[in-house]
Amino acid sequence: MDPSVQAAAEAARGFMPPDEGIALHQAAMSVPVGGYPMLEIGSYCGKSAVYLGSAAAVRDTVLFALDHHRGSEENQPGWEWHEPDLVDAGTGRMDTLPLFRRTLFDAGLEASVVALVGESSVVGRHWTTPLSLLFIDGGHGAEPAHRDYQTWTPHVADGGQLVIHDVFPDPADGGRPPFEIYCRAMESGAFTEERAVGSLRVLRRVGPGC
Ligand code: SAH
Ligand code: MG
Repeated sequence: MDPSVQAAAEAARGFMPPDEGIALHQAAMSVPVGGYPMLEIGSYCGKSAVYLGSAAAVRDTVLFALDHHRGSEENQPGWEWHEPDLVDAGTGRMDTLPLFRRTLFDAGLEASVVALVGESSVVGRHWTTPLSLLFIDGGHGAEPAHRDYQTWTPHVADGGQLVIHDVFPDPADGGRPPFEIYCRAMESGAFTEERAVGSLRVLRRVGPGC
């Protein structure tokens, strides 16, 4: 990975340790050149989008970065992962879109990363394009995580990748839903596991369904 882009990723605010970010970037570097786009669910301030988008630039494709930018449950006031300076004083709501845009500008990736600002299920209802890589890192509650899996996983192209973040086999390490959707993918027979780094799981489609 280009050192200056890697520095931009590490400087960005968010929830992606460097070793997992590099693994994410390496997964994205294996998509076909000039092929289908990639899509991530859950961008926050753009950290994972830099790891993925810098690969999209090299592979002559784009990353769609989907987020309503209002934060997940655990980012709201009073929750563990709340950052008070990300509340828009005008609306009283979380707003990570300005920092997301700044991160992508600083990384020089505005041409390779397209922000989709909206609710995942709403965008998903109208989505038809196959994906070379799908990264699931949105809402981590049972309902949003399983809904993202059901809505988006069917779009992963033959031979394409499904990458899931915050997969914790031991409940002591974190919440269950990302682990549950990882298990669903493995039990479907449609995916095989290629790599595990920290809580990141890189799967590849080897058959139909999900
Ligand atoms: N990938 C990021 C972290 C994502 S945090 C990083 O590398 O730092 C999870 C994000 O998912 C939050 O920004 C939140 O706004 C978004 N999110 C949660 N539920 C969502 C939904 N239903 N639709 C769209 N975005 C959602
Ligand atoms: Mg995450």
